Amino acid sequence: MNQINLNNKEYDVIIVGAGFSGLYQLICLRDQLGMNCLVVETGDDVGGTWYWNRYPGARCDTESHAYSYYFSDELLKEWTWSERYPGHAEIRRYMNFVADKFDLKKDILFNHKVTSAQYNEDKICWEITTNNKINFRSKFLITAVGCLSNANIPKIKGLENFKGKYYHTGNWPKNGVSFVDKKVGQIGTGSTGIQAVPVIAEEAKHLTVFQRTANYSVPARNKPLTENFKIHVKERFKYYRELLKKTPNGHPFEISDRLVADVQEQEMQEIYEKAWEKGGLQFRGSFSDLVTNVEANKTASDFIKNKINETVLNKKFAAILSDIDHPYAGKRPPIDTNYFETYNRDNINLVDLRSNPITQIDEKGIQTEKEHFDLDIIVFATGYDAMTGPLLNMNIVGKNNLKLQEAWEEGPKTFLGLQVPGFPNMFTITGPGSPSVLTNMPIAIEQHVEWIRDCIDFMNKKEYSTIETDAKSAEEWGNEVNNVANKTLLPTVKHSWYLGANIPGKPQVFMPYAGGLPRYRDVCENIKNNNYKEFSLN
Ligand SMILES: Cc1cc2nc3c(=O)[nH]c(=O)nc-3n(C[C@H](O)[C@H](O)[C@H](O)COP(=O)(O)OP(=O)(O)OC[C@H]3O[C@@H](n4cnc5c(N)ncnc54)[C@H](O)[C@@H]3O)c2cc1C
Repeated sequence: MNQINLNNKEYDVIIVGAGFSGLYQLICLRDQLGMNCLVVETGDDVGGTWYWNRYPGARCDTESHAYSYYFSDELLKEWTWSERYPGHAEIRRYMNFVADKFDLKKDILFNHKVTSAQYNEDKICWEITTNNKINFRSKFLITAVGCLSNANIPKIKGLENFKGKYYHTGNWPKNGVSFVDKKVGQIGTGSTGIQAVPVIAEEAKHLTVFQRTANYSVPARNKPLTENFKIHVKERFKYYRELLKKTPNGHPFEISDRLVADVQEQEMQEIYEKAWEKGGLQFRGSFSDLVTNVEANKTASDFIKNKINETVLNKKFAAILSDIDHPYAGKRPPIDTNYFETYNRDNINLVDLRSNPITQIDEKGIQTEKEHFDLDIIVFATGYDAMTGPLLNMNIVGKNNLKLQEAWEEGPKTFLGLQVPGFPNMFTITGPGSPSVLTNMPIAIEQHVEWIRDCIDFMNKKEYSTIETDAKSAEEWGNEVNNVANKTLLPTVKHSWYLGANIPGKPQVFMPYAGGLPRYRDVCENIKNNNYKEFSLN
């Protein structure tokens, strides 16, 4: 596909990952600053999340016109999405369109996973090694490894004995999986699981869903975009660019400024009903206090639980599905196409793992405390070692031989989610401590990538060799991340991957910045306008 010269060992910048983050960082540094860059990517093509996540029903929850790069007017005019929410294949086509338009692939080394990155203090460079034992050096190391790229299959006794096939949704075979005539078990009912269930149930002979945590979901109401809307988006992209920068989550809808207490019961029900009919993530924008006030949240939670009970005809299933132990939007709020309706099919079963946990997997299927389930295929929709997993996997070693694993033993410590003390000249796009997963990510990514570009540009012009944050800045930022999170209901949720609680042994620290994109952007802009004085520049 491309001809990277493996004998060329020296680069100004090595960028790890060729998803939304890596591609745009390459454009900024190579084409705008004229730097010598290499992107290293494990997969054999661009796409990141959407390269790996090809599971049945895999689709973006952000509306397509917002799940786009906004940096190029030309690109916005040239690309046309076909549906309200783009599916995984369409996003891959988009990423390839971008890569071709900006001629990016010639600087991407595919099929190479970075397995170690060591900072050399004497030579002021990062020494990078890939799984194919290829070494490179660069002045800057930029991680564009994604927050949700480290698939997590839980350790369940006996999995190795299973004679059927098993798959993780985040590592789905390129050629797909046929479920025809198969008895399928799916573990996990988060955002991914909720997308997969209806599609798998349509094809499989039988599907058993194993649910640990019941979840809210709002209808997506996906549909083909009308020609009028396609034209509207192209004509109004400047408006959308501003809107996406202005809203706290980078989505193309405002959060209402009314409180639940401002309205009477009937009006509240009408507001929820209207939002339910419209569908999508903006349901959570119905009132301003849904994620900050327990009582307010309960009204939305109860509304959705009632919808589940009305939709699901099997009373036992309805009870299991609506027995939700956390506030609405306390975890990533899923949206769906026919999720709850699928439980009315006659080829589906639902197992409540809280009252009937899995004890082991054997050669024929899954054994729970009370029953055995014969299966041909097991689908793990069990999520990711989110945010820190892909970074810790790279074996990054900074100054004084400090391993990132040691530096983050008690949880991630960063300044702005962009830099880690002890790791000079390393930038972490959408790192822990930044708004990242609480936002429509391409918008957060563009902000990070441009900030890093401007910072490196400043260093080049002023002839600085290194930039580094310190422990005090990281501690103060960590306090800010905790303070804003504690004003919301988010840190109260058990098993939340925002806290790392889905991975046994992982320190439980609230990782994303919940203060919203505009506030975060202001903090970053002030630092830039102040010539990066909060960092040590040498
Ligand atoms: C199922 C799913 C649904 C999602 N839906 C939405 C949504 O609706 N809206 C939204 O805003 N976001 C969504 N996201 C988040 C999504 O990850 C981001 O929107 C975006 O794709 C992140 O881009 P990225 O480039 O930062 O990371 P990624 O797309 O994750 O790309 C990172 C790349 O880095 C590579 N990589 C990692 N480690 C290494 C290594 N050591 N060496 C070499 N390469 C490496 C990976 O192979 C990967 O290709 C979703 C994520 C998932 C998993």
